[in-house]
Amino acid sequence: MMNATESRPLKPRTRAVHAGTRRSRYGEVSEAMFLTQGFVYDSAEAAEARFIAAGEDEFIYARYGNPTVAMFEDRIAALEGAEDAFATASGMAAVNGALMAPLQAGDHVVSARALFGSCLYILEGILPRFGVDVSFVDGADLQAWREAIRPDTRAVFFESISNPMLEVIDIAAVADLAYAAGAMVIVDNVFATPVFQDTFGLGADVVIYSATKHMDGQGRVLGGVVCGSTEFIRKTLEPYMKHTGGAMSPFNAWVLLKSLETMDLRVRAQVASAQALAEGLEGVPGLSRVIYPGLPSHPQHGLAMRQMGQGGTVLALEVKGGQKAAFRFLNALEIVTISNNLGDAKSIITHPATTTHQRLTAEQRTGLGISDSILRLSVGLEDIDDLLADLTAAAGTI
Ligand SMILES: *Cc1c(COP(=O)(O)O)cnc(C)c1O
Repeated sequence: MMNATESRPLKPRTRAVHAGTRRSRYGEVSEAMFLTQGFVYDSAEAAEARFIAAGEDEFIYARYGNPTVAMFEDRIAALEGAEDAFATASGMAAVNGALMAPLQAGDHVVSARALFGSCLYILEGILPRFGVDVSFVDGADLQAWREAIRPDTRAVFFESISNPMLEVIDIAAVADLAYAAGAMVIVDNVFATPVFQDTFGLGADVVIYSATKHMDGQGRVLGGVVCGSTEFIRKTLEPYMKHTGGAMSPFNAWVLLKSLETMDLRVRAQVASAQALAEGLEGVPGLSRVIYPGLPSHPQHGLAMRQMGQGGTVLALEVKGGQKAAFRFLNALEIVTISNNLGDAKSIITHPATTTHQRLTAEQRTGLGISDSILRLSVGLEDIDDLLADLTAAAGTI
């Protein structure tokens, strides 16, 4: 049923509902949760044979693979247009694996500077300890990428839309520069979501997601996934992941399989609300700036439209006044909740300077544009009228 033919390839929404499904002999409609660590062999010889070479759909131990986790991996690979995927315990296990597995001492990496805090910790704190030389650039500055990429550059790394300032990176242009040097292109694509952007088509070699965000989308489980060629996933990433223990829980894979069925609907609704909120909040007294790639006022609006076709589910708001005004705004909200996740059905707002980006030095924050006046808003699934009223009323207290 899922064998899409060349003449009639299945659309992403169909793949998100069906791809990867493995039915047991009971013929269940909803995917089964195989909450098992181990697998039984019919004989000693069968055990030996499986350890020599596990066949398709043959499992050994849940740290290596599990049928429910395999369904999730296959569904994501189908959705993303990747040859293969490996599921991990969290988004950070995915980022760590995608970098640590292929890199070794003496390699050079060029990374965008504007990164999720834990990604920055790996690139700035961990990789250099093992002899990997990392150069940081302003991700939106193509000349900076051109100057930083060297003949010995092994990989480039960036978030396709940065957190929390929503800078859009020109994936195709950076990939061209990387290819000229023979470097692999590793993209953390969380903010763009798998719904909108053909990240492999734009030139990525490896695409990473935190499944914790839009894939779950309902604030329940942690998860991550690395997508890439079968060669990379099975020969480079899998040995590293299976021996270092960052495996996804089958329970979490099951939750994520069910939520992938609705991801397209949820994310499209969230984007429509984010666009309407961005337009509705621009010019509201109390706010000095609304940063959203879907607004013509965004410096990379054109690129965002070409690359993603929409502005995403996250906005950054700049309040008039500093931390005090920002906190007053947060504390006046009645529907939007103060938390640091994103991509959730619940609208969530955070003050990056005192939470997610607190660990950075004041100079680092200034360099990234994260002032005390900046708030990050992840738009959920509530009624747009209620959201706009809540945010407008809170802005009135600034
Ligand atoms: C959340 C996030 C991560 C980390 O994901 P976890 O599932 O929390 O480990 C990595 N990169 C980006 C851009 C994120 O937003």
